[in-house]
Amino acid sequence: MLRIDCPWCGPRDMVEFTYVGDGTLRRPEIGAEDGHFDYVYLRDNPKGPHVEIWRHGVGCRRHVAVTRDTATHEMLATGKPGEGAS
Ligand SMILES: [Zn+2]
Repeated sequence: MLRIDCPWCGPRDMVEFTYVGDGTLRRPEIGAEDGHFDYVYLRDNPKGPHVEIWRHGVGCRRHVAVTRDTATHEMLATGKPGEGAS
């Protein structure tokens, strides 16, 4: 059973969380002419450690930054979004 260490609630079962998306994407600046298509439609498929955003829907209902190894599903680190997973 996989567990995610929520920065607010502590270690919880993974079924309490929902995957939100890639934690490395940055929204293009308002008024920027390029980057919108890539931001909305294009996703990488990384192998290895990757930063993701998960939502703790059954607990605090906050977003959590999770560094997960996409090859082994091991949860390497967690943190508050914007502060990075550590
Ligand atoms: Zn929580």
